[in-house]
Amino acid sequence: MKLKNRKIKINITDTTLRDAHQSLLATRLRTADMLPIAKKIDQAGYWSVEMWGGATFDSSMRYLKEDPWERIRLLKGHMPNTPFQMLLRGQNLVGYKHYADDVVEKFVERAVANGINIFRVFDALNDFRNIKTAVKATLKNGGKVEGTICYTISPVHNNNLFVGLGRRLEDMGCDTICVKDMAGLLSPYDAFDLISELKKSVSVPIHLHTHDTSGMSVATYLKAVEAGVDIVDTAVSSLASGTSQPPVETFVNILSRLSKYIVDLNMDIISEISDYFREIRKKYKMFESEYTGVDPNVLIYQIPGGMTSNLASQLNEQQSLGKMKEVLQEVPKVRKEFGYPPLVTPISQIIGTQAALNVVTGERYKVITTETRNYLKGLYGKPPAPINEEVRKKVIGDEEFIEQRPADLLEPEMEKLTDELGGRAKNTDDVLLYALFPKVALDFLEAREKGITTEELFTQGSGTVPEIKDEATISHLAPSEFNIKLHGETYHVKVGGMGHPGEGGRPYFIYVDDQLEEILVESLVEVVTSVSGVIDAGATGHSIRPKAREEGDVTTPMPGTVVRIKVKAGDKVEAGDTVLIVEAMKMEHEVHTSISGVVEKIYVSEGDSVNPDEVLVEVNSKS
Ligand code: MN
Repeated sequence: MKLKNRKIKINITDTTLRDAHQSLLATRLRTADMLPIAKKIDQAGYWSVEMWGGATFDSSMRYLKEDPWERIRLLKGHMPNTPFQMLLRGQNLVGYKHYADDVVEKFVERAVANGINIFRVFDALNDFRNIKTAVKATLKNGGKVEGTICYTISPVHNNNLFVGLGRRLEDMGCDTICVKDMAGLLSPYDAFDLISELKKSVSVPIHLHTHDTSGMSVATYLKAVEAGVDIVDTAVSSLASGTSQPPVETFVNILSRLSKYIVDLNMDIISEISDYFREIRKKYKMFESEYTGVDPNVLIYQIPGGMTSNLASQLNEQQSLGKMKEVLQEVPKVRKEFGYPPLVTPISQIIGTQAALNVVTGERYKVITTETRNYLKGLYGKPPAPINEEVRKKVIGDEEFIEQRPADLLEPEMEKLTDELGGRAKNTDDVLLYALFPKVALDFLEAREKGITTEELFTQGSGTVPEIKDEATISHLAPSEFNIKLHGETYHVKVGGMGHPGEGGRPYFIYVDDQLEEILVESLVEVVTSVSGVIDAGATGHSIRPKAREEGDVTTPMPGTVVRIKVKAGDKVEAGDTVLIVEAMKMEHEVHTSISGVVEKIYVSEGDSVNPDEVLVEVNSKS
């Protein structure tokens, strides 16, 4: 018996460039900070590098003013040898809603053309009607498909169900199967059982994805390895642990003591990569929340890492961070009422936002997001268990639950979107930006047209500062160059310029030790005066809104942006009618009138930032 020479190879996917910074740094890692180390990552020997998908697409445009497609091409230039992997939310692509089949097909085609090799395709509800188009398109374009089972714990989920899902994915032609434990709930012994069962029933390689949120992850991988898992996801230690993936160094070290296994990675290079990101991470400190460390409470709340840090930053924007614990307790209640969906994007955002609204407004389901309404109508697919009837009735009344594949209800979109964009789009990739995030993409394309690019915003030294064109100028803030002392360190600060106020505040472009940084400043008080005198409120494009006093004064429950106005002055409305749609916490929610009557006056325009207590629309019951 010479079995001891036959080592079992355990393959590793590195998530540092995607899930790790999505989980720890609110997805803010810039391409410019990835490129200097990309060659090294390419030499480490990973099975694949997950570097795109999930929230990176949205965040690139929204916060970094980067073209997400460009990131793939730039990285590919430095990393020709390691397969690129992306996370694709099935029919939701990298967005939060269902897109038409032609958008899904085009998106996958362009992702392959730009350099993505492996597509980890999942549906949040494990409703495989929602991944069918993406799987087919990937195979057609020569990509590899990793079909995904979203792991969760609930009274309706068990290994039988998961193995059944695995078999179906293999039948669909998937090259590998991923068990996606997005919340870090999978305990070591459960992993052993689940992977053992899967290995008995499916023949394609099994890839396990987990997070270290509960602190169990390295043990979970070890038991999964003993059960025969083929590939696992890790991050370099400086961007690992907590809500991120387990650290690769720790895991490899454990396996290296067992003669049975081999992990073919260059650990010296990995050590260099980790050192690099330890330094880089400091630049992103402002995006770290106190909820990214190991927290076994995840086993109670069952909330994925990204969701906890997102909820924290969103509640922070709403100045309601003190209600975090209540919101965390509300999440499992909403999830139960929604039929125990696995908490993964976009369902985790829908449930998280609804739970936050239920808490912040002081009344459950008083304010409903458009996404909650759509979910309860069946527009996201079939939940694992029945939806709570009382909640469904309260939200959608007698409307019927849709039984067919949700995307079958959608008309082709690409042609229409191409026409809409016209000259603003240079190519199909631009149209896809717009198809996925219309508002964010338009802002981005405009910035790009004006030449405001990532390089210019963020490259050290050589950056040009966007033009200052507002009514107020930075000179109010004299002196514009000074030293500050912070935690014992001295920084040289030079104010460069200021942009237009937008989502999250007004951007200031500030050199800190000659490094250009974009800093968002959100005013917490109504400032009507400045050093130089009174700023006319009219000049900022907003009329001054009265404080809400009467019953007919329609207000927003949370600060946000007006997306649509559904009424005009003189319209008759019934109590409960939607008069406005306001976007807050990345979700749209409906604002209703609480009384019947006639719309007397509208104080807002689409695109306005609004705050609670201001009258947005005045409804008069007397007329
Ligand atoms: Mn994940």
